[in-house]
Amino acid sequence: MSQPNELFRDSISTITKEGARNWIFAKKPFGKFYNARTVVSWLYLLVFFTLPCIKIHDEPLFLFNLLERKFILFGVIFWPQDFFVFALGMLTFMVFIVLFTVVFGRLFCGWVCPQTIFMEMVFRKIEYLIDGEAEKQKRLKAMPWNTEKILKRSGKFLAFFAVSFLIANYFLAYIIGMDNVLLYVKEGIIAHLGTFIPLIIFTSVFFFVYWWFREQACLIVCPYGRLQGVMLDPNSIVVAYDHVRGEPRGKIDRHSAENKGDCIDCFDCVRVCPTGIDIRNGTQLECVNCTACIDACDAIMTKVHRPTALIRYASENNIRKGEKLQITFRSAAYSVVLLVLIGVLVTLLATRKDIQTTVMRAQGMLYQEQPNNQLSNLYNIKLINKTRKNIPIQLKLETDGLHGEIKQVGNAVEVQPESVGDGVFFVYVDKADLKTRKTKIEIGVYSGVRKIDQVTTSFMSN
Ligand code: SF4
Ligand code: SF4
Repeated sequence: MSQPNELFRDSISTITKEGARNWIFAKKPFGKFYNARTVVSWLYLLVFFTLPCIKIHDEPLFLFNLLERKFILFGVIFWPQDFFVFALGMLTFMVFIVLFTVVFGRLFCGWVCPQTIFMEMVFRKIEYLIDGEAEKQKRLKAMPWNTEKILKRSGKFLAFFAVSFLIANYFLAYIIGMDNVLLYVKEGIIAHLGTFIPLIIFTSVFFFVYWWFREQACLIVCPYGRLQGVMLDPNSIVVAYDHVRGEPRGKIDRHSAENKGDCIDCFDCVRVCPTGIDIRNGTQLECVNCTACIDACDAIMTKVHRPTALIRYASENNIRKGEKLQITFRSAAYSVVLLVLIGVLVTLLATRKDIQTTVMRAQGMLYQEQPNNQLSNLYNIKLINKTRKNIPIQLKLETDGLHGEIKQVGNAVEVQPESVGDGVFFVYVDKADLKTRKTKIEIGVYSGVRKIDQVTTSFMSN
């Protein structure tokens, strides 16, 4: 059976005994960490709302157009054929996140996760502005529907919906580009109903998350949060309560000779927690490392003239044994994997070609006899132009010891910017040079005098 102070293990703070939602009224934090996070959130929001407006060579700096399968990162266009580069980039990012978490815990969640930024730094601030502090929010929720409640609720509803609509528009801009969003706005809802309906669905999802779902997104939905148990170890730096210094906790009693720890059991760290937990129970899945409890406890420690940092960024080993940050085998192994992945990714990006060529022998045809003791094979060529300029193409046969030529069928191939072009061509080879039934041939792809690609294919003879 659980001990009284172990009861937290049997329940979660956001659900009542009856299984209903226990609404969290988090007290507004203040202090140096909250100020720093506010500055970070301003920068974050500035970047979020500015990026879709930045263009390079008339193309967005970033675009994640899943519908047209077009991705632009830092102005570089990635095609479906580059998907392995994209996938490797994602894998590298994930290993980076895992390594970062092993060493620095959930720093990402507290400082730059979009859910935390928008919930704590945008919507929660609007809520404090309209509904007031936590105590006022509780009173407002409990009061019957009177003029004050109707005005505040409708004001909050409108503000939350407007911000959700704005965020949804910017998300859309990341998908279809800001130019298209502005064009759709200009041309009106009726002309773009197919886009407007998903936009309203996205707006409603954002609204639902920030109006009602809130911390549940971190507790129930976020896979990263659920993985904390396997990523953190006693050397990971997390927001932690110094139980060595704080325990045994107790109210200040100047008449008692009992030797108490520094925690005065004021519960301020619990009152500010947006997920409703008591960090003094140790590292918990629900903790998003938002630092609000650090600020709350520092303010209390300052008031009672005790050293601050009773709750601080620290590892379990730091608190228990006084150890500094250690490089463990696990973090070293992740670092090596990360370095290898970064190396491969950089190499792939550096060697990525402007044009990608695929040559296939035409189906159902082996070879054709030609005058001058030559044989010919027919080929199809497909070219993907990943640049923003027209590329006229010429082909040359470049196999040592093989005499022959390439004759394009129809007009010379010219691939439009960011497009796929195709064509058909014959390769003529002197019979005397063909020693086997299937001969490997090299074809150089040129644009003017510049060689831009090389492909290998086979030539069939008798
Ligand atoms: S325990 Fe502290 S850091 Fe963790 S979520 Fe609560 S207030 Fe934030
Ligand atoms: S705010 Fe500090 S002193 Fe107050 S209960 Fe939390 S840990 Fe203890």
